[in-house]
Amino acid sequence: MIEFVPTICPYCGAGCGILLVVKDGTVVGARPWPEHPISQGKLCIKGWNAHEFIYHEDRLKKPLIREGDSFKEVSWRQAIRSVAERLGEIRDKNGPDSLAFLSSAKCTNEENYLLQKFARAIIGTNNIDHCARLCHASTVAGLGEAFGSGAMTNSIPDIEEAGGIFIIGSDTMSQHPLVARRIMIAKEKGAKIILADPRRVQISRFADLHLMHKPGSDVALINGMMKYILDHELEDETFISEKTEDFEKLKEALEGLSLGEIEKITGVSKGEIERAALLYAEAKASCIIYAMGITQHTTGTDNVLSAANLAMLTGNIGRPGTGVNPL
Ligand code: SF4
Repeated sequence: MIEFVPTICPYCGAGCGILLVVKDGTVVGARPWPEHPISQGKLCIKGWNAHEFIYHEDRLKKPLIREGDSFKEVSWRQAIRSVAERLGEIRDKNGPDSLAFLSSAKCTNEENYLLQKFARAIIGTNNIDHCARLCHASTVAGLGEAFGSGAMTNSIPDIEEAGGIFIIGSDTMSQHPLVARRIMIAKEKGAKIILADPRRVQISRFADLHLMHKPGSDVALINGMMKYILDHELEDETFISEKTEDFEKLKEALEGLSLGEIEKITGVSKGEIERAALLYAEAKASCIIYAMGITQHTTGTDNVLSAANLAMLTGNIGRPGTGVNPL
């Protein structure tokens, strides 16, 4: 008997819908889930092959305990008892803070919740961290401060409504292919793509403008775009006065800058910065898409805040096709 079991692709943040093909209790394939709102019956190559690791010979299927130089297969009961006893011994001997726990975005929300509960309530330590500390901690801090929520301001389908798409620090076609599909749909409808990436990436071929700025100069690049927008009165005054705070401080910070200086810092010509600012500010709705290329920096939070400021300066928030969207 063949069954189709709906689930979500485990490989990237696009979260596409997959139907696992199950034959007589064994997973034999993966198919697109036609009704899924994000993937709309499409998958990238990773999704089509998402089932392969389930029975892969390299996959660990039983717990192993080290004995000298080798590992011995044990039952789950033995493994759990061994871990519990050892953790208990360490806590009793050296105190709860001698232990630390690390969780992952590969776990479900519920599993992450349980691990912090285990660390805090059972072991008695706050030494609990998550791999997202490295990837999107700056998003949580930056977008939390700017908008009150550290997540995408708009939905993935919304990207299709954009007239301008500013991609910074995201190799979208390789890393989030089904998000890139929405960008391509928007492009077919006339959207202009502004890409800021020091490297040539797959989506470079489709960009109307590719700014190859120096690594670490994201804030300067966005400041340059904002400076041009302000100097040419392209800001959205109504949005700024009704929906933002401390605009004067931003204006003051940008006033002393010159595009010539920014050209030196970023390695991007004045003309290209001006064109990027115009493409972004003059579209009916522009969205910003970013990923690890701007978050994994010592200035990651500032990079995210700069993106948020650019969106607020031009009123590109709170409408379809706009927003600041971390992937
Ligand atoms: S874009 Fe590809 S890897 Fe990402 S969730 Fe969709 S199918 Fe999976």
